[in-house]
Amino acid sequence: MTSRRSLLKAMAILPVMNACSSTGSASSSSSINYTPSGLPLRRVNVSDSRVIRTVSGLRPFRREGFVVKGERIGDKTVVHNYGHGGGGITLSWGSSHLATEIAQQTAHKKCAVLGCGVMGLTSARLLQDQGWDVTIYAKALPPYTTSNIAGGQWSPASVYEDASLTPEFQRQFEAAMRFSYRYFQNIVGPKYGVRWISNYQLSNEPRPTDDLVHSYPSMYPQLNILGPSEHPFPMPFATHYDTMLIEPAIFLNRLMEDFYGAGGEIKVREFQDFDEVLTLEEPVIINCTGLGARDLFSDQLLFPIKGQLTFVLPQEEVDYITITDGAVGTYMFPRSDGILLGGTFEYNNWDLTPDPAETRRILDQQSAFFNAMKDPWG
Ligand SMILES: Cc1cc2nc3c(=O)[nH]c(=O)nc-3n(C[C@H](O)[C@H](O)[C@H](O)COP(=O)(O)OP(=O)(O)OC[C@H]3O[C@@H](n4cnc5c(N)ncnc54)[C@H](O)[C@@H]3O)c2cc1C
Repeated sequence: MTSRRSLLKAMAILPVMNACSSTGSASSSSSINYTPSGLPLRRVNVSDSRVIRTVSGLRPFRREGFVVKGERIGDKTVVHNYGHGGGGITLSWGSSHLATEIAQQTAHKKCAVLGCGVMGLTSARLLQDQGWDVTIYAKALPPYTTSNIAGGQWSPASVYEDASLTPEFQRQFEAAMRFSYRYFQNIVGPKYGVRWISNYQLSNEPRPTDDLVHSYPSMYPQLNILGPSEHPFPMPFATHYDTMLIEPAIFLNRLMEDFYGAGGEIKVREFQDFDEVLTLEEPVIINCTGLGARDLFSDQLLFPIKGQLTFVLPQEEVDYITITDGAVGTYMFPRSDGILLGGTFEYNNWDLTPDPAETRRILDQQSAFFNAMKDPWG
């Protein structure tokens, strides 16, 4: 059966090809309304009456980057896998792969995974695939984890601070990024809620080219810098690239199903301290407690960056991401559970209550932006 998205794509391809053949240029007037893959760029309808929810979450951030390391404590092997900031969905398979490689060095095949966010679930699944008997212990399960709050753009952004970057961490980061980039491609499709999508990063000045996408162009296909007449958005400069978009609600549910399907067990339990963790019967413990690792494993370098997202009703015809630079930037990810409008990064704010002033700012900025956008249907 032809889906609405493939129909739109078919409708969109013809004008683009005509435009390109007559001018040979990507900057022709009609192609500015289409992504390089030929999808029309339709306007997002942002208004208060279309808002369906506002949520907040705490990114588990370390300036030095995330921790993947093993240690021997008493008769247990503890493997840490936490602190992925604003890129935990992106890095999940890769970081968990590094963690499970450490676990594989033990003589055991039975382990406890602490945490049932994206890191716990991907660690658990990779170990099950290697024949391990895995029990997940967690205070909260999906949909009540930080991983469920994530936007889900595949891009390891806000994962570390440049000033604190070490060569050792950079190697770990790149290994996790590359593994994840490849692994997510195995599960593209509606079953896991993963798809490819065009991204437009917009700015008033030409963007610097020492950013993440230009540092790793092989993981950002169709990377292209566009001038003011080459896109329909009301900011002059745009960097275009494709990424995957992962819908956390679909992805995490599917991982839970896969985990149970492979014989895994989940026990809801909150650990008060490290001594309590050591009472577990399993000889290997994978620590995927996210921000919880701060207290549980005394990592004072870990702290939250609060993010707030407002969702408006989904629009199936909107199939691209926008990210705007500026003093207070914003972003828009079109998901099946709503169009996500974001743009807050509050360092060391532990308060999970959404701030109405931030909701207002995001809605006002996004509505002004999309109202000024050129839409091919007017
Ligand atoms: C607004 C926002 C937008 C984001 N957008 C993106 C994005 O577009 N792309 C991207 O890649 N990432 C994004 N992220 C980042 C991503 O959400 C996180 O990096 C990721 O969810 C971290 O996963 P985790 O499994 O380590 O932690 P969590 O999802 O927090 O899971 C931790 C688990 O440990 C359990 N736990 C903690 N303490 C204890 C304890 N004491 N006892 C028992 N269990 C415990 C919790 O209950 C939970 O089950 C975003 C985050 C936010 C907040």
